[in-house]
Amino acid sequence: ENMIVLEAVEKVYPGSTSPAVERLDMSIPRGEIVMLIGPSGCGKTTTLKMMNRLIEPTGGRIILDGDDVTDVNGDQLRRKIGYVIQQGGLFPHYSIADNIGVVPKMLGWDKNRIKERADELLHLVGLEPSTYRDRYPRQLSGGQQQRVGVARALAADPPVMLMDEPFGAIDPITRDRLQDEFLEIQRTVGKTICFVTHDLQEAVKLGDRIAVFGTGGRLAQYDAPDTVLTA
Ligand code: ADP
Ligand code: ADP
Repeated sequence: ENMIVLEAVEKVYPGSTSPAVERLDMSIPRGEIVMLIGPSGCGKTTTLKMMNRLIEPTGGRIILDGDDVTDVNGDQLRRKIGYVIQQGGLFPHYSIADNIGVVPKMLGWDKNRIKERADELLHLVGLEPSTYRDRYPRQLSGGQQQRVGVARALAADPPVMLMDEPFGAIDPITRDRLQDEFLEIQRTVGKTICFVTHDLQEAVKLGDRIAVFGTGGRLAQYDAPDTVLTA
């Protein structure tokens, strides 16, 4: 059963003559990790942002958990999708706990529940809650900020995670560790994940399936990692 279905999805940015994404058909089964890979500018980020409704498609449909995303309101979308970007995308003037609590707060959770959830998630991503909850992003290393970014996206326990090069700005050794941690966490939480990367090794290591984009946001290949590698 598919959690996300893209049907002939297209995006032409205003003022542009060629599509950033062209007639994209792709289905993401529940519980799988799908890696979007391809050269810079091939439409990976655009595709992710359309799933999240940060960008409106100019054609086609996106079905999320059975509903057309254009019919899903903001709160429902926040419950459904966690979003992780490069460098964590943390709010610099919020403490770590407040960063993790952003979505729960918007959803109206009470303060104690938000606090407990932040501690639980800090623990999950390998940061000691008592040490880190009251710190600010600038007091954390890049890798640690990225962990908080993952924790924040998981806060309201969304079934879907969209991750845009979450480990792209991290040194190779730390990145390797984060990838292992990510797979470990995925074994616990079992999300449906769409993960953008430009690193083939990362795609093969993490993906259940790999979507290879060509230029113009066309899907060139969509298969299991070993099939992609031998094609
Ligand atoms: P990728 O994530 O694969 O690097 P993007 O989705 O960011 O690719 O971009 C796809 C194409 O759309 C590129 O040609 C890019 O220049 C263009 N593009 C991205 N964002 C915008 C925008 N806001 N306005 C106009 N063109 C854009
Ligand atoms: P530093 O940047 O100070 O070297 P790291 O970022 O390398 O610290 O910390 C690595 C540890 O962080 C791993 O052992 C793991 O427990 C945890 N971790 C980091 N990022 C993530 C993530 N995105 N998902 C899950 N666990 C993570």
